[in-house]
Amino acid sequence: MTGTITFTMIKPSAFSAGYTGNILAKIEAAGYKIKAMKKISLSKEQAGHFYEMHKERPFYEELTNFMSSGPIVAAILEKENAVESFRKFIGATDPAKADEGTIRKLYGKNLSENAVHGSDSDESAQREAGFFFSFLEMV
Ligand code: GDP
Repeated sequence: MTGTITFTMIKPSAFSAGYTGNILAKIEAAGYKIKAMKKISLSKEQAGHFYEMHKERPFYEELTNFMSSGPIVAAILEKENAVESFRKFIGATDPAKADEGTIRKLYGKNLSENAVHGSDSDESAQREAGFFFSFLEMV
């Protein structure tokens, strides 16, 4: 059975550009319920833990520098088939390749500064939600 929870972040570039309100409005209009949400600044070490599965990738350094460069908004979203539907909704990793109307097409700049994160599996969603939120913050 597919899960009803996914995890998202509004990344530093989109936050500092003032897109948070617009992005959240689109997320809610698409039928996602916000189960938990917070604005937070990650240290480089914390960003490194979050993206530890990419540790060996050539873009890891750039990614963790970027994700610790300013505040983000982290949220847990609820909807049927949340992980898969949200990834379609935000579009391809590279905004240049994302479909028209997707969040990354509308608000992303490049492969690194692609506006938002979306979990890639139910297991990732659980891990990522637990990385940012305590049990009490999720209920
Ligand atoms: P996602 O699941 O679509 O977010 O993509 P990945 O899990 O493959 O990568 C995680 C994040 O790393 C992406 O959202 C991008 O911000 C960044 N990223 C992925 N590939 C590249 C790349 O080739 N270059 C750079 N600079 N960043 C990348």
